Amino acid sequence: MKRIPLFVKIFIGIIGGVLFALLLLQFEGGKQLIQDWIKPFGTIFINLLKLIAVPLILASLIKGISDLKDISKLSTMGFRTIGFYLFTTLISVSLGLLVVNIIQPGESISEETRTELLSDYSQNASQTQAQAVTQKSRGPLSFIEDIVPENIVSAASINSNMLQVIFFALFLGIAIIMLPETTTKPFKDFFDSFNEIILKIIDIIMLAAPYGVFALMASLVADSPSLELFQALLWYGLSVLLGLATLIFIFYPTMLYLFTGRNPAKFLKQILPAQLLAFSTSSSAATLPVTMEVVENNVGVDNEVTSFVLPIGATINMDGTALYQSVAAVFIAQAFGMELSLGAQLGIILTATLASIGSAAVPGAGMVMLVIVMAQAGIPEAGLALIFAVDRPLDMFRTMVNVTSDSTVATIIAKGLGKLEPR
Ligand code: ASP
Repeated sequence: MKRIPLFVKIFIGIIGGVLFALLLLQFEGGKQLIQDWIKPFGTIFINLLKLIAVPLILASLIKGISDLKDISKLSTMGFRTIGFYLFTTLISVSLGLLVVNIIQPGESISEETRTELLSDYSQNASQTQAQAVTQKSRGPLSFIEDIVPENIVSAASINSNMLQVIFFALFLGIAIIMLPETTTKPFKDFFDSFNEIILKIIDIIMLAAPYGVFALMASLVADSPSLELFQALLWYGLSVLLGLATLIFIFYPTMLYLFTGRNPAKFLKQILPAQLLAFSTSSSAATLPVTMEVVENNVGVDNEVTSFVLPIGATINMDGTALYQSVAAVFIAQAFGMELSLGAQLGIILTATLASIGSAAVPGAGMVMLVIVMAQAGIPEAGLALIFAVDRPLDMFRTMVNVTSDSTVATIIAKGLGKLEPR
């Protein structure tokens, strides 16, 4: 197995997991068997990835920023990063609106299917709505408030507080740049070495990746709803997938080529392990260690850039999620026979952009924030039940897009700063 590239091994894991589950589901008790004996290994694999996220961000950002030697470089990188991230998100939401208005998937839902879905999934939908309530009741600047932790130990103890950890690491890095080197050397040396050790741990975890995705895919297939449901929501699913495919195969390659002159096909192959992992875990946060590794080692982006741009991207830049939120909101409105005015659709551009920034990088987070987009546009929230059944498979694809976007932007920023090595 040694010389087989990682992405091929992961791919075999994905296909193997699906086939294995399909086979086992033919037997009575097969589903239970998967849930009891296979699923835990998938969970263990995701936990291992999450386990390494906070130490990785701390070590890599402190090392990356303190290597900069100059704070003005950091602000240039910061402004460009936020600018590019906002730009790609706005394009994604607009593309989603375009696709959903052309295909009009909501029109293809029959009265009968609608009633059925609404009654079958109303309980799940109200749970998601309840999760969104706390988000909705907060002020407009709460997301900035949330970035500044009051206690670093408690911030670092919760994976969803990643932005707070990033904030602290940035602060440390800046202070290191401002002090004379003799004072900071021991601390820097420690973090350089810590960083190397964490990277080694990631290598070790990646040895388990093919088996981890096998288990994840098998349990997903075992838990997945019936094929008829997928058929009923076919046009909706296709609209989301069409939008996502346009981003991956047209928009990012064009941006990459224009800004860096790199061959997009080669780039996609270089980041494929991260994309496949994003697909199998549905979490950009869990994928982050691997995204950083492939963008650094395979694409050739300097650690000074990856350590800053990628963790921030994993938390705030979610193009796939933003596109999905705009398609889903309009789809539900269409299915209820609601006319959305141009003003309401422009409102969706704004709310979906903010909602995607606010979505946590974990499975299903995009749907929780979708509630806010719907509420703003006056779309009945109970309509969430319509899309519940197919949310997980779509989540897998949108997470893949989220990770691709982060990697593309990191490469573009690196090129602009002269931090992209030839590959
Ligand atoms: N699962 C997505 C991510 O982690 C977020 C979402 O759209 O639900 O990137």
